Amino acid sequence: MTDQELVLIVEDDPNIADLVDLYLGKGGYRTIHASNGAAGVAAVRDRRPDLVLLDIGLPGGLDGFDVCQQLRVHSNVPVIFMTARDDEVDRVMGLKLGADDYVVKPFSPRELVARVEAVLRRASGHDAPRSTVHEVGGLTIDEDRHEVRIGDKPVELTRREYDLLLALVENRGLTLTRRQLLDQAWGVDWIGDERTVDVHVRQLRVKLGENLQLHTLRGTGYRLA
Ligand code: CA
Repeated sequence: MTDQELVLIVEDDPNIADLVDLYLGKGGYRTIHASNGAAGVAAVRDRRPDLVLLDIGLPGGLDGFDVCQQLRVHSNVPVIFMTARDDEVDRVMGLKLGADDYVVKPFSPRELVARVEAVLRRASGHDAPRSTVHEVGGLTIDEDRHEVRIGDKPVELTRREYDLLLALVENRGLTLTRRQLLDQAWGVDWIGDERTVDVHVRQLRVKLGENLQLHTLRGTGYRLA
């Protein structure tokens, strides 16, 4: 990832815009924000962002589809749609508007940043990913392939289990509270019981056995050795 690439967020919901801003900031991106379609079109012209995250349901006459069409007249800037509904996904796929990808709300921080990274990498034309294979205990976690293996044998994990494992691996040696794990694996906008983490940890332990060297710190959280 090139540092400090500029991402334009076109989103009328200030809560979602703030979250996206936070996720991308953590991911190392600069952001600017437009809260309607016309402002988005103007921001692409004036600020020349490296990528546009584009909400579909926007106020003020131009929806996300309109904005994308207007952008495409003059600009090849990569566009990722942020969709809220399945029928919007169908339109994104059907219209071939020149969108590079889409994410469906609610999305996790990891998912969003991964999509942005992937699209920017593709757009910049060099496809050399950072090293994304982790060897931990008897486990191999391959981020590019979204795969976890014990030795040569792949292990089937749900998406949540995978995200949780990755959060633990990325913070290896550190104690993480259940809240921190929820934030990382489920997203900071996720509202729910922290015991959800315990349930998923239990499933990981069943599936990964001794290969998962995970310590439970009573009353605090978890730490991967
Ligand atoms: Ca909206």
